[in-house]
Amino acid sequence: MRIKIPEEVRTISSVIKRAGFRSYLVGGAVRDQLLGLSAKDYDLCTDARPEEIMSLFRKVIPTGIKHGTVTILLNKQSYEITTFRIDGIYSDGRRPDKIAFTDDLTEDLKRRDFTINSIAYDVLENKLYDPNGGEADLKAGIIRAIGIPEERFREDGLRSIRACRFASQLNFKIEDETIHGIRNCLYNIKDLSAERIYEEFLKIMKTERPSLSFHLFQKTGILSLILPELSLCAGVTQKGSHDFDVFEHLLRSCDAAPADNSDVRFAALFHDLGKPAVKCLGEDGIVTFYNHENESVRIAEGIMNRYRFPKNKMTRIQQLIQNHMFHYTDEWTDAAVRRFIRKIELSYLEDQYLLRQADIEGMSSDPIPENYYGLRDLKLRVGDILQEGNAFTVRDLAVNGKDIITSTGFPGGPKVGIILDFLLESVLDDPRQNNREKLLEIAERYSATLD
Ligand code: ATP
Ligand code: MG
Repeated sequence: MRIKIPEEVRTISSVIKRAGFRSYLVGGAVRDQLLGLSAKDYDLCTDARPEEIMSLFRKVIPTGIKHGTVTILLNKQSYEITTFRIDGIYSDGRRPDKIAFTDDLTEDLKRRDFTINSIAYDVLENKLYDPNGGEADLKAGIIRAIGIPEERFREDGLRSIRACRFASQLNFKIEDETIHGIRNCLYNIKDLSAERIYEEFLKIMKTERPSLSFHLFQKTGILSLILPELSLCAGVTQKGSHDFDVFEHLLRSCDAAPADNSDVRFAALFHDLGKPAVKCLGEDGIVTFYNHENESVRIAEGIMNRYRFPKNKMTRIQQLIQNHMFHYTDEWTDAAVRRFIRKIELSYLEDQYLLRQADIEGMSSDPIPENYYGLRDLKLRVGDILQEGNAFTVRDLAVNGKDIITSTGFPGGPKVGIILDFLLESVLDDPRQNNREKLLEIAERYSATLD
């Protein structure tokens, strides 16, 4: 058997057995290990009641006691253990109104979402229990709802989104009846909480190909409910070096962004959302998308507010989208490169390159030539210029606001900021000017033109 178990799980199972109960590993840990992947966390199920589990272990947190789940802490790790249960009626499309505990493992496995998630493993006996045919579906690469799909998706709308997420995570197909079930239960998607959907988005962004999920969202009708802004990009054709419509381009860019950087992944998915709104056909027959970056930032902001993205993540993603359009050529002067650095901000620079790279890769299925769009040359020049240690922000200037007030006699206020900005512009043009004497001289001259 290819299932590896941490010593703590064995200990938990032995303690439960000595007390006269059974326990099984279930869900993701069994599924992923049968696929040869490593387990992310270890969930167990048992016929013991939550209060019995609580009395058997020293550190137990009643995390979801109403639903039979407690968390055992052992050697600084946590293990969720849920009492076998039968779920009652789901009247709100999210949670069962009532649950009943049972001693029957098969009943517990039946209330789970997909066959591949309903395989139980007896740790002590090294034996699998698979009454829903999960192992066969794992081998075939299929996501299949347990029981009657339509009923299962009617019970809980999140399952539809989970199905698509697992398709990306495991590179699996969703079985036809299951797709059909999702399509017939779209009405309860709107009742899902923003937080649960956001968690699913985050998990999708960590997979190798988020596009698999988004294509499935599109195919099932989920997309126009959760991300109508993205759905609107389908069929919006582009010209020039673009082989794909805006929808396809966004998905390909998202896939091309690194899986361990969800900021760049989200920025890639959103960076052209403004295109449908600003698309224009010129007299020369050429399509243009003027100002689409501003429109994309606005639309992305709406989406991220809706799903309650953390504030700092949102700011970062918006900034990346805002600056995603740069077209480096050999013509750029050093001053132009310094202005580029000033605009991007140093802590965003790497991510901004990654987004540009993903954007370029998402334009065509042909292999991208090295140094396409001069990205490699730009990185080298930025590197050289950063080495020189020049001023890129007002804070880096050899004078500050106080110095300006003293030398110009202005009482302070917005004019001081205007002067500092002017000084920075001068220094970006010619870094040699960044010394106190020179800057104060420029400040005095410039201040005389302001009144
Ligand atoms: P991962 O941890 O990678 O998201 P997982 O399968 O472990 O995958 P969890 O959300 O940790 O997912 O849930 C553990 C198990 O609980 C699942 O494998 C499944 O058997 C069951 N489960 C989770 N969510 C649902 C749901 N909405 N409906 C039915 N069963 C569910
Ligand atoms: Mg899990």
